Amino acid sequence: MTQHFDYLAIGAGSGGIASANRAAKLGKKAAVIEAKYIGGTCVNVGCVPKKAMWYAGQISDALKYAHDYGFNAKVAEFDWARLVKNREAYIERIHAAYQRGFDANQVTVIQGFAKFVNKNTVEVDGTRYTADHITIATGGRPAIPDIEGAEYGIDSDGFFALQEQPKSVAVVGAGYIAVELAGVFHALGTESHLLVRKEKPLRGFDDMLSDTLVEQMAKHGPTLHNHSTPERIEKLADGSLMVHLTSGNTIGPVEKLVWAIGREPATDNINLDLAGIELDERGFIPTDKYQNTKVEGIYAVGDNTGRAQLTPVAVAAGRRLCERLFNNKPYEHLDYNDIATVVFSHPVIGTVGLTEKEAIAEYGEEQVKVYKSQFNALYQAITEEHRDPTRMKLICVGKEERIVGIHSIGFGSDELLQGFAVAMKMGATKADFDNTVAIHPTSAEEFVTLT
Ligand code: FAD
Ligand code: NDP
Repeated sequence: MTQHFDYLAIGAGSGGIASANRAAKLGKKAAVIEAKYIGGTCVNVGCVPKKAMWYAGQISDALKYAHDYGFNAKVAEFDWARLVKNREAYIERIHAAYQRGFDANQVTVIQGFAKFVNKNTVEVDGTRYTADHITIATGGRPAIPDIEGAEYGIDSDGFFALQEQPKSVAVVGAGYIAVELAGVFHALGTESHLLVRKEKPLRGFDDMLSDTLVEQMAKHGPTLHNHSTPERIEKLADGSLMVHLTSGNTIGPVEKLVWAIGREPATDNINLDLAGIELDERGFIPTDKYQNTKVEGIYAVGDNTGRAQLTPVAVAAGRRLCERLFNNKPYEHLDYNDIATVVFSHPVIGTVGLTEKEAIAEYGEEQVKVYKSQFNALYQAITEEHRDPTRMKLICVGKEERIVGIHSIGFGSDELLQGFAVAMKMGATKADFDNTVAIHPTSAEEFVTLT
């Protein structure tokens, strides 16, 4: 007999898990269907293992500072395989915690790949399930370019599968994943090349952030190659890879090549047409601000909707959707404006709101006032050779100097941002920041002492 649910999420990643748990907590009979592993991209091949690798990079940096802090530390070698083993063991513990959560909330977990049969019915390995409400939370996958030899490269999933540290690597791309992975490789001692097709990485970010990142890469690495677009990847007799660029130049040989040129939505192969859903030209599922698709009773949340591709966004959209559907909150929805984000680059970046250029374009130059600061974080200032600048920028508009952008690059920029993002979301002005007494000595205090 076909099993029926009140709420069914396709995909047990960030959006699917959060929404199914919320539906169940609100008293609904809920299920999630997962084709691979519980936790989706973030837990298995995204945020979590990435952050573990980034922390390893931070420890590597700290070991370089150790001497100036009075330690005579000698590190014989870095054991990549041991780190991977401990990282994966942690991920197993997260899987177990998720399962305990499902059990406690009485969410049914169905293992397998779901396809629509009609607008209320999906099929998994020959078994059919129906639901009053179905959310498509299928996420995405790495994009690979259509060039000769592309298959010799790996993607971010392949990065997390590496059991040994490569001696040399070329990372291709200019977004979050490219700068994060190139930074990790470099910090851990792999000879690293970052290939961007335009003038610099992170072009969509405030110029202060991307320019400082470029400046720091020039000083410490990885080696940045701008205006470098691969045309062909050649595998040499010893298995190493040569990157042939459209310019005629070559980079390599390198042991590994990582494609990090964006992600595509996982919306093909699931018979969306049988449910009556049409995709946009890039394969994303169009939704309104309530996560409704154009078919009643079918919703989409997370990466496959083409909005900010971040875990907390998928989680928040999924939870709010279930609050709207099952908790008598007809207008509940996620506000996609001013979402704070951190790029775990070396140095780390924290950013929320408008860039300076965007603020000027939106409000006009005369309405925009920018406050900036540059200093050496005390943590690094103690050292002889690692005094890298931290740079911060506050973007204010209007007579009342309402804050519309907060940007920071340098040690501590990751952890300091969340609280400031709350203030900005509440409409804080420069005067509110000035009225807040600093916490000393921290990097964050700069934001309340800017003149
Ligand atoms: P996903 O988490 O991708 O989950 C979708 C799930 O659906 C998958 O488990 C998939 O197997 C399953 N699925 C797909 N099709 C079907 C089907 N037909 N039937 C059944 N199951 C199906 N975000 C941050 O906020 N911070 C970070 O630091 C960060 N780092 C990242 C690092 C990397 C390398 C990557 C790749 C991403 C990172 N992200 C980060 C982005 C974040 O992982 C995603 O935004 C988030 O996972 C999206 O959640 P989702 O629920 O939309 O999809
Ligand atoms: P992004 O969309 O962030 O960046 C990809 C970039 O690669 C493009 O912006 C483009 O930059 C460049 N690019 C595109 N096509 C090509 C090509 N054919 N050849 C060379 N370069 C190309 O994608 P990512 O894969 O880095 O990450 C996907 C998403 O995952 C991110 O947008 C983010 O939302 C999320 N994520 C979040 C993280 C976090 O929160 N810390 C970490 C990792 C991922 P240009 O036009 O300048 O060349």
